[in-house]
Amino acid sequence: MTRKTSTTSTASGDGAAPGHALMSTHGLTKEFGGFRAVEGVDLAVAEGTIHALVGPNGAGKTTLFHLLTGFLPPSAGRIELAGRDITGLPPERVARLGVARSFQVTSLFPAETARAHLELALQAGTGLGRRFWRSDRLLARFSGRARELLDQVGLADRAESPAGSLPYGQKRALELALALALDPRVLLLDEPTAGMGLEDVDRTVALVDRVRAGRTVVLVEHNMSVVGSLADTVTVLQRGRVLVEGTYDTVRSDPRVVEAYLGAGGA
Ligand code: ADP
Ligand code: MG
Repeated sequence: MTRKTSTTSTASGDGAAPGHALMSTHGLTKEFGGFRAVEGVDLAVAEGTIHALVGPNGAGKTTLFHLLTGFLPPSAGRIELAGRDITGLPPERVARLGVARSFQVTSLFPAETARAHLELALQAGTGLGRRFWRSDRLLARFSGRARELLDQVGLADRAESPAGSLPYGQKRALELALALALDPRVLLLDEPTAGMGLEDVDRTVALVDRVRAGRTVVLVEHNMSVVGSLADTVTVLQRGRVLVEGTYDTVRSDPRVVEAYLGAGGA
């Protein structure tokens, strides 16, 4: 159902039916000084699904995320969101259109409390710009929603803890809450379980499963058991290109995928 149909005519914007491509790329390419990190990628992310991007290190997954979120302009190709061409829009615009990402690299302010992070993100209206006036009176308006979000990611009892004091798994949960503060239609998660122990991995899987309701999730993930439990569709990238796409079970047993992983010594 999530085969790469060419998604031309969902010009209605909000009205995309479940299963329809909410976000898609067409011949998407990114060159760095002649080297193609992403090359001719056609991706169709069906609305309401979790779509995993996997592949050996250097396959172009993070670069593809940078392209999808406007952090990098493509060298060629097109990106559509609900039928609208968003190619080349800057990150703030893409975020406002409902695409939010949680970062692979931590971006928290150690001295600020978990609650303050969320209030500030809610006030900024985008998880990106944290350049704003600090007004406690204004921020108080967001405290209810901030608490809801903390509760959603299992941090209700850490609201007043400085972010720097949180253990690793909880820092990542806070980052996820910051992305959720935008109430995104499309949530991009770059290796949400990277560096986690088993217990935190399980917690994160449960968490992603909880917050997926009403959203579409694009997930870069190395841990194949995480991919297996969460993803509806898996796209395998290799050297910037789509190698194979399908359900987890199809992809996992595909000889080309086995070869790609063994050959590159990845994951
Ligand atoms: P992945 O996330 O799948 O491990 P990346 O998207 O980070 O892969 O990188 C894909 C390829 O592009 C790698 O070979 C990497 O070295 C290269 N690359 C990524 N960013 C840049 C950059 N800013 N300049 C030059 N090369 C880059
Ligand atoms: Mg990466």
